[in-house]
Amino acid sequence: MPSFQDLLKQTKTQISEISTDELSQKLKADPSLRVIDVREKDEQERGVLPNATLLPRGFLELKIEEAVPDKNQEVVLYCAGGTRSALGALSLKNMGYQKVLSLAGGYNKWANESRPTVKKTFLDSQKLERYSRHIMMPEVGEAGQIKLLDSKVFLIGAGGLGSPTALYLAAAGVGTLGIIDNDVVDRSNLQRQILHNEERIGEPKVESAKQTLKALNPDVNIITYRERLSRDNVMDIIRDYDVIVNGCDNFPTRYLINDACVFMKKPLVDGSIFRFEGQVTVFQTGKGPCYRCLFPEPPPPEMAPSCQEAGVFGLLPGIVGCAQGIEVLKLLLNIGDPLIGRLLIMDTLKMKIREMKVRRDPSCPVCGDHPTIKELIDYEWFCSMAGGDPLKKPEHL
Ligand SMILES: [Zn+2]
Repeated sequence: MPSFQDLLKQTKTQISEISTDELSQKLKADPSLRVIDVREKDEQERGVLPNATLLPRGFLELKIEEAVPDKNQEVVLYCAGGTRSALGALSLKNMGYQKVLSLAGGYNKWANESRPTVKKTFLDSQKLERYSRHIMMPEVGEAGQIKLLDSKVFLIGAGGLGSPTALYLAAAGVGTLGIIDNDVVDRSNLQRQILHNEERIGEPKVESAKQTLKALNPDVNIITYRERLSRDNVMDIIRDYDVIVNGCDNFPTRYLINDACVFMKKPLVDGSIFRFEGQVTVFQTGKGPCYRCLFPEPPPPEMAPSCQEAGVFGLLPGIVGCAQGIEVLKLLLNIGDPLIGRLLIMDTLKMKIREMKVRRDPSCPVCGDHPTIKELIDYEWFCSMAGGDPLKKPEHL
C-alpha cells in the first residue's frame, strides 16, 4: 500500500505544475485565464487570487463541468501549498481536461511574494439560508446574491405598481431600495397597494412602505424621499442608483424620469396600467429606445387623457409590478434577455400578452443623433392645464 507521500510523489509525476512567476506572467498576458481556488471557504475568506473561481476541493469534480465546460481550455488550480491542487489536477486530467496546471507553493507562496490578492465577501449562515433558493441556481449563486445585496434600486411611487415591486425586491435581497412618494395612505389605495394597510391610513406612504419592507427583510436598507420628483432633485437622487423603476403613471414624471435616465445612462424599468391593461418595457440608452422615441412630446393638454384617476382592476398592478421586478433582478444580475426594445402589453380581461418591437428613433429629441432636448423640462403646466394636478398630489396607480 503506498503511503500518502508516495501517492503525492506519484501524482506530481503525472501532472504539470506552474510556478508563481510563470502564473504571474501568464495572467499579465491573458487576464481571462481560468484560475480555480480549491481551498475551503474559511481559507478563501482571508484572500484569493484576483478573478479566481472558488470551487472547494470537495466540489471540484462535481462542479467543474459547469464552471469550465470546454475541456480544452487551460485551467490553473491552486490550494494553500500545492498538494490539494495537485490531486485535483490529476482528477481533472482523468476527467478529460487537457491543459490543467497546479500552482507550486499555492496561495501561501503567492501571497508571501506580495503578489496581488483580493478579499472576498461571503454570506453568513442566516443569509445563506434566507437566499438559499437563489444560491442553488447557477444563474444567481452566492456571488449573484452578494451582487443583489450590494445593489441599489430607486422606485418611483409606493402605490399599486411600487408595492409588489418593492416587496419582491426586498424579499429577493436587493440591498438598498430608495422610494419616492409624496402622498399619504388613503383607504381607496388599499384595494391594490399592498405595502399599506388599514392602520396606516393618513400616514405618509414612504413611512408605511418602510415599515412593511423592514418587517419582511431587515437586511434591506430603505431610503425614503417624501417629496415629488422634479427637475431640481431628480439628477441628484438617481445618481447613486443602479436601476430606476417607474411606477408612477403621469406624464410629467414619465418625461422627467425618461430624460434624466437618458442623460445619466441609467436603465429605466417602466410599467403602466389602465383598467385591465398593463404595459412593461425597459429603456436603456445605448442599447434601445427611450420613452421619447415612442412619444417625442406630451400630447397637447386638450388631447390628454384626464389626469383624474381611472379605474384599476385589483390584481393588475401585481402582475405588472412583478414583471418590472423580474426585469430589475435580470438587469442587476446581467442574465437573460431584458425587455429592452420590447413592449409587453397584457390584456388581463382576455388574459393575452402581446409583444411589440420598439426601436430607437435616430431623430428622437433626447436620445437621437442630434438631440434638441439637452436639459430637464418640468411639464407641470401640462396637467394643471388639463384640469388635474397629479404632480402636486401624485396619485400612483
Ligand atoms: Zn429616445
